[in-house]
Amino acid sequence: MTQKALLDGLLDEVESSAKRGTAIVVFDLDDTLFSTADRHLRILAEFAALIETQDARSAGILRAIAREKLRYSIADTAKDHGLEEKLGKDLRDFWFARFFKNPYLLEDSIIAGGPEYADAVIARGGKAFYMTGRDEGMREGTEASLLRHRFPEPDGKGATLVLKPSFDTPDFAFKNEALHKIAELGEVVGSFENEPAHVNMFVERFPKGRHFLLETKHSGRPVELLAGVHRIKDFRR
Ligand SMILES: [Mg+2]
Repeated sequence: MTQKALLDGLLDEVESSAKRGTAIVVFDLDDTLFSTADRHLRILAEFAALIETQDARSAGILRAIAREKLRYSIADTAKDHGLEEKLGKDLRDFWFARFFKNPYLLEDSIIAGGPEYADAVIARGGKAFYMTGRDEGMREGTEASLLRHRFPEPDGKGATLVLKPSFDTPDFAFKNEALHKIAELGEVVGSFENEPAHVNMFVERFPKGRHFLLETKHSGRPVELLAGVHRIKDFRR
């Protein structure tokens, strides 16, 4: 089936479920609705500026990294480009202190078609839940980023934003727990994720739903996708 047919099929499902009750579609954010590539590139550029005077060569390498060469982990990106281990570690610390901070969230671009698709879910009578491994401390930047890219506003009516209460909770455990609550609010008819382990959790929990893996990038944990997961590049129809 084409990407268009798959995405349209879920919207039809949303409409028929909404006639029976509350139809819910769950969207992950990072590398699902948003591309984090520009956030990575900004941090790389800032780190390059920091080391420029001591190590102009490495700074040049970092600045020249192309967005399609970015790995999920910044340490792997550094390694792929031949940076020495010590510098890779410093970069990792520098990245970690910034990647989850509100101003940096505003660097993100969208995965194509995402805002229109979330709109369509609501237009067809469904509810969009943004369920993310970002934590409450990132609410401000997340809301600003959603609005800036014209996603449905998470006002708790058409769309709702579900964040982790604290940074330290592992994403999988948090999502597993949050899904219990979401399932009580209506029928989860579909979901979108970039992490194979998370998509599998949706398939097991809501076997009648339609679940999608975005082929962007993921943590690289070796997880086999369960049967029935649909793979898509983006949200264009
Ligand atoms: Mg994600």
